[in-house]
Amino acid sequence: MDVSTIFGSMVFNETVMQERLPKEIFKSLKKTMEEGSALDLTVANSVANAMKNWAIEKGATHFTHWFQPMTGITAEKHDSFISPIPGGKVIMEFSGKELIKGEPDGSSFPSGGLRATCEARGYTAWDPTSYAFIKEGSLCIPTAFCSYSGEALDKKTPLLRSMDALDKQCRRVLKLFGKDVKKVTSTVGPEQEYFLIDKKLYNKRKDLMFCNRTLFGARPPKGQELEDHYFGAIKPRIIAFMKDLDEELWKLGILSKTKHNEVAPAQHEMAPIFTTTNLSTDQNQLTMEIIKKVALKHDLVCILHEKPFNGVNGSGKHNNWSLSTNTGENLLEPGNTPEENAQFLLILTAVIKAVDEYQDLLRLSVASAGNDHRLGANEAPPAIISMFLGDELTAILESIMSGKPYDKKAKEVIKLGVDTMPAFPKDNTDRNRTSPFAFTGNKFEFRSLGSSMSISCPNIMLNTITADAMCQFADELENADDFNSALNALIKKTLNEHKKIIFNGDGYSQEWVEEAARRGLLNLKTTSDALPHFLDEKNVKLFAKYKVHSKTEMEARYEIQMEEYCKVLNIEVMTMLEMVKREITPAVINFAKDVADSALSMKNLIGNAAKTQIELVKTVSELTDELTDKTKALEAVILKVKEYDNATDCAKFYTASVIPAMNDVRAVADKLETIVGSEYWPFPTYADLLFRI
Ligand code: ADP
Ligand code: MG
Repeated sequence: MDVSTIFGSMVFNETVMQERLPKEIFKSLKKTMEEGSALDLTVANSVANAMKNWAIEKGATHFTHWFQPMTGITAEKHDSFISPIPGGKVIMEFSGKELIKGEPDGSSFPSGGLRATCEARGYTAWDPTSYAFIKEGSLCIPTAFCSYSGEALDKKTPLLRSMDALDKQCRRVLKLFGKDVKKVTSTVGPEQEYFLIDKKLYNKRKDLMFCNRTLFGARPPKGQELEDHYFGAIKPRIIAFMKDLDEELWKLGILSKTKHNEVAPAQHEMAPIFTTTNLSTDQNQLTMEIIKKVALKHDLVCILHEKPFNGVNGSGKHNNWSLSTNTGENLLEPGNTPEENAQFLLILTAVIKAVDEYQDLLRLSVASAGNDHRLGANEAPPAIISMFLGDELTAILESIMSGKPYDKKAKEVIKLGVDTMPAFPKDNTDRNRTSPFAFTGNKFEFRSLGSSMSISCPNIMLNTITADAMCQFADELENADDFNSALNALIKKTLNEHKKIIFNGDGYSQEWVEEAARRGLLNLKTTSDALPHFLDEKNVKLFAKYKVHSKTEMEARYEIQMEEYCKVLNIEVMTMLEMVKREITPAVINFAKDVADSALSMKNLIGNAAKTQIELVKTVSELTDELTDKTKALEAVILKVKEYDNATDCAKFYTASVIPAMNDVRAVADKLETIVGSEYWPFPTYADLLFRI
């Protein structure tokens, strides 16, 4: 396979555009892509025609506006290119209008009440900053999805808006350093974790099929304790899958770079090379879809859930994030000259301020029923948001804050904009895996994301909160009489105000929980604790100021997410009840009956024998009764959900009452699994699922 020829072969990228578009059209499109200038219809017509011809040559027959509704997955509705002509024939057509705008019926997508059914029409609008591509015979056009009145109904629109806000504010800050760049974009490289399970085994488990996670399952004799899976040799069946996966991703221009086994058995990771946040978000959505599809071809099922198995690590997504100029400068790269360092420190300080002021937004941007199983469970970062900067960088910041010399020998106080920052080795960047938000040399790694979620929301937050800090800095410094002294004072003051967010220690320790509370950091343990903060006044103001979300949009999003949380849990409860009543209980009764029969026949044979059987029947019978009781209790609790008429109270009830009742049912069933004969157990166990590949 020649990777360089297949790479991007299914993408209408810049090379293709340059080859196929008239010069003027290409220039005008590029201007739109780079500077966001409006696209006129002649340009759109020409682009559409070139796209269509290219797509048809590649075997495509349809086109679709590809969008990202609030379901968290992508949506597409395919139209063929055919257009009838006299003589019962067709020609293949695709107009600029069809490229720019679509009108899918939006009524079946979650809108949080934004769109009354009478105006169910939604609009999709082409996002020219993300390339069109071909998937399964359809030309896919990345689009934003809005309501009739222009409110965002998707995860892309606010992301683009947040990138705009960040661009504007960063350029103001760079101007202060004498740099007149055209564009600043945030960049992201998301590391994607996932599990692969044999399809035949998967199909035997209703919990995996309906909930993407196991609701039952005792720990297998072997788990991840030998630590022999992480980076271990990859099994041939998985290698074959990964090879196919790479090929499919490469065809779509996705820079799949790294693949390896993860910590848990059957767990793996794919990391792409970073790109702009917008493209990276689109590509991560595609990646998740393609991993699932390719897995099926290999009779495997990909599980993207954050916590498919109790007792083994769950899956996350590390969101590596930085800021980059159109001139190729990484704004989080420490510099070599005093001026560069001053700029770096100002931007770093802006991020520190942003994360501290908006801990709540970062926390809630990764909140979901699935991710609640991970955060704070000693395998993923804790639910408390803090920042890791590493010892050296922290020491530099401390010296700035206190005005005391950084290097005791030199006895010199660092003066920003004058001194070069003491070089700090790149590899000091941490292997502290417990921090939610770690500086890793020239980027931040936000590690709290769940594996199945769109990366859009966390990046909307990162972009917007950083834009806000940059804006405040620019406001202050643009009016300064003496730039350097104002800069020094601003950095010093801001760091002192926000240093409480910096923590380089062990995030899993109980001491940190206590220390964080003393520092006044938030500890929002669950989705129902975190999400309500979205609508806090300061957050509504923030998003309104940068035109990322209107208050109405925020309220709608809040509703959607709270409802989703409740729905996910409701499906889990229904699946659990079905599995207990129709699978586990009958299996256990069967087993008990056979043991009891055996006891009886043994007794007939040798008098008072069959001690083992009798004890076993007793235990099984007691546990079965307990299972029935706990199941009844769960049924009673779930009935009470109806008493709550708003999503917030309902979600809080699920967290406080339904989840504990589910845990009770599971605990008894898992105990039974360890004593009931294996051929009686109604579905594959953890040992089967995790080790039979
Ligand atoms: P590690 O494996 O130590 O976490 P890597 O250097 O392999 O670090 O990077 C991990 C991810 O971070 C990759 O997806 C990479 O492309 C991404 N990354 C690197 N530099 C940047 C950057 N400037 N902006 C965003 N992501 C980045
Ligand atoms: Mg990493």
